Amino acid sequence: MEYRKLGRTELNVSTLGFGASPLGDVFGPVNPAAGERAVHLAIDHGINFFDVAPYYGPVLAEERLGKALLGRRTKVILASKCGRYGVDTFDYSPRRIRSSIEESLRRLHTDYLDLYQVHDVEFGSIEQIVGETLPTLWALQKEGKVRYVGITGYMLRMLMRVAEAASPDSILSYCRYNLLVDDLDRVLVPYAQERGIGVINASALHMGILSSHGAPEWHPAADEVRQAGIKASRYCREHGANLSQIALQFCFGYNKVATTLVGMRSMEEVRRNLRALATPLDPALLAKVRTILAPAFNMVWPSGLPANHDFRAASHRPSALRARRVSMRASSRRGGEER
Ligand code: NAD
Repeated sequence: MEYRKLGRTELNVSTLGFGASPLGDVFGPVNPAAGERAVHLAIDHGINFFDVAPYYGPVLAEERLGKALLGRRTKVILASKCGRYGVDTFDYSPRRIRSSIEESLRRLHTDYLDLYQVHDVEFGSIEQIVGETLPTLWALQKEGKVRYVGITGYMLRMLMRVAEAASPDSILSYCRYNLLVDDLDRVLVPYAQERGIGVINASALHMGILSSHGAPEWHPAADEVRQAGIKASRYCREHGANLSQIALQFCFGYNKVATTLVGMRSMEEVRRNLRALATPLDPALLAKVRTILAPAFNMVWPSGLPANHDFRAASHRPSALRARRVSMRASSRRGGEER
């Protein structure tokens, strides 16, 4: 297993990170014992970075991960989050953050977190996240309850606005760099690298679309994106290959991020994903898969409060997306706001 430093922190995280949201039955029911065995196998094979949140399950993923980590806490770098508690339930107030950390520590059977992240910042106001939430996390750091402080979200511009004002240790974004999208590389990574902020790339399988299971019902992507995933998966199957394997190999080859988080719920998935890490990508197969996925490439969706969207229009149309991308590049060059 290869390890990389998360930005300017002292955390050396495995390049394959364990996303624990599936342990909260987010992608369908999980056998708790199987989930626990998956965690143990991952640790035995050198995976040391585990990411979870009270939102997953809700609270079930933290409970199950906490149980699986009993007696193994010191072998892992443990990240959790605060501020998001349900599909439409958010509370970024200092009072809630203080109760939230105590609840997470209790569920995870530990007295500190290695990384504590404000969950999905685009659902909060920039004034509150920067003026109240993050200062509360820094206070928790001084109190020894968390070692480092990060932010997470889908809207890259909002993440950068928060980072500019508050300088977190890490930024986690999801579904922004994989076979279906690459704007993390163009927009966020250069920004973070310049400032020594660690980047965590989550959802290498585009939250299931790049797997044979397909997307869960709640997936926010447009139908074109789901259909492209289904076509690519079928093509791989017909050619004796596996789309998840290719998607993961592709992400593992991207070394500008500290770690790639993959949601895992069974020993079989852990084994497969370790295999993907250890085997080289077939360039001809990759080229074919990319051609199949091309019509759905870089199709993003709006998330969070309208004021925090990366772009003005909320359309899923590719032409509108192209326009968005150009304007994001232009504003990056200006070093200014998204609008
Ligand atoms: P993902 O793209 O990693 O896909 C997970 C799905 O793929 C699950 O159903 C899993 O069982 C399945 N899977 C894993 N390995 C497989 C394999 N080899 N073959 C077939 N299927 C396989 O999506 P994710 O879990 O949402 O993202 C990874 C992690 O990143 C999450 O668990 C979470 O920890 C983190 N995350 C954070 C945020 C946030 O902070 N806002 C958002 C998304 C994800």
